[in-house]
Amino acid sequence: MGPSRVLVVGGGIGGLSAAIALGMARFDVTVVERQQDVHSSVYGVGIIQPSNALRALEAIGCAQACIAAGFPASGWGKMYDVEGNYIHDNGNVGSNFEHNVYVEAIGITFQYNHLGALLPGAGGNNLKDRSAGLVVRYNWIEHSNRQLDLVHGEDSVLVRTDPRYRTTHVYGNVIIEHPNSGNNDICFYGGDGGSAQKFRKGVLHFYNNTVVSDRTDNTRLFRMATNDESIDARNNIAYVTAAGANLQVLDNYGRLTLTQNWFKTGWTRFVVSRPKGTITDNGTVTGTSPGFVSLGGQDFHLTSGSQPIDAGTLLNPAVLPDHNVVREYLKHLSSVARAVHGPLDIGAYEF
Ligand SMILES: Cc1cc2nc3c(=O)[nH]c(=O)nc-3n(C[C@H](O)[C@H](O)[C@H](O)COP(=O)(O)OP(=O)(O)OC[C@H]3O[C@@H](n4cnc5c(N)ncnc54)[C@H](O)[C@@H]3O)c2cc1C
Repeated sequence: MGPSRVLVVGGGIGGLSAAIALGMARFDVTVVERQQDVHSSVYGVGIIQPSNALRALEAIGCAQACIAAGFPASGWGKMYDVEGNYIHDNGNVGSNFEHNVYVEAIGITFQYNHLGALLPGAGGNNLKDRSAGLVVRYNWIEHSNRQLDLVHGEDSVLVRTDPRYRTTHVYGNVIIEHPNSGNNDICFYGGDGGSAQKFRKGVLHFYNNTVVSDRTDNTRLFRMATNDESIDARNNIAYVTAAGANLQVLDNYGRLTLTQNWFKTGWTRFVVSRPKGTITDNGTVTGTSPGFVSLGGQDFHLTSGSQPIDAGTLLNPAVLPDHNVVREYLKHLSSVARAVHGPLDIGAYEF
């Protein structure tokens, strides 16, 4: 049998947490602290306790006391903008639960990032998000189970009650799906597990993205959790190298509005035969090829005369002016101003 008495030297957060946890495990713990004043180790500053710290405090029964002693910081998510990073080789081999990026914040923006492949054999998603006011623009997102898994705020009522919780913007991205990369979803929106009351139940504005899939089976562009979610999809290219029928636009639930997207001829509306959701098609451009500069070379700029040129529609007034399409992703980790001549082109690049 091991020792049952423990001496902890230092009564900071580390020492005190260890002492409480050891006490819960029935050790006889003594803490010694050289300072007489318990507040002396970190003078005069506010201490931020993010959700991972609160979870650890919860495990030793201290989270509620910590929350009661503090106050919410409304600008917190602002510290989390993610710009110009190459994020890859994350996740855990053989598991779907660890992702390339997994965040829950308020007012977070991802831009000019290259979100690459997870570890070989890791089954997670590329960008999994539980935020309010998420903006994903001008990124290169390639590989993984779902490229975008936009689900409900799980950890904080502050996220779910933020006015931006029900509005999400995804625009100007290049999104690429490959064979043997998990399920065939590109973008899931709404919520997963738990109570559906917490789901986003709002609008995903998904526009001027270029989605390319070289899967040999089906590619599913959108999936929504319930009929309370809706997606306004306009000016996107969705190209599959497989037959057009392998491009499935919506799984089952949700309200999808399509306006001036370019889809491969023969595209399929729903995955299921008796869908619970609705698709309103205000006009779709179809063809066999969108006219990329080089599919094999992954240059998804448009060539002269290609169908998407000048074929876009006006953006939803609700996204303007803050979320106008004014830049393009520049390989890699950068961006350039998007040219302005004539009506918007469809896709992430202006000819
Ligand atoms: C200005 C500032 C701002 C910070 N802001 C944040 C923040 O916002 N969020 C956050 O999570 N973290 C923050 N941190 C970091 C956080 O304060 C530390 O990570 C944390 O306090 C470390 O805890 P600890 O118990 O490991 O060490 P400490 O807090 O340093 O505790 C060690 C204790 O051991 C005592 N001690 C040392 N030697 C002996 C000895 N021989 N005998 C007896 N007692 C001894 C010391 O007096 C001290 O009380 C901040 C730190 C600073 C300095």
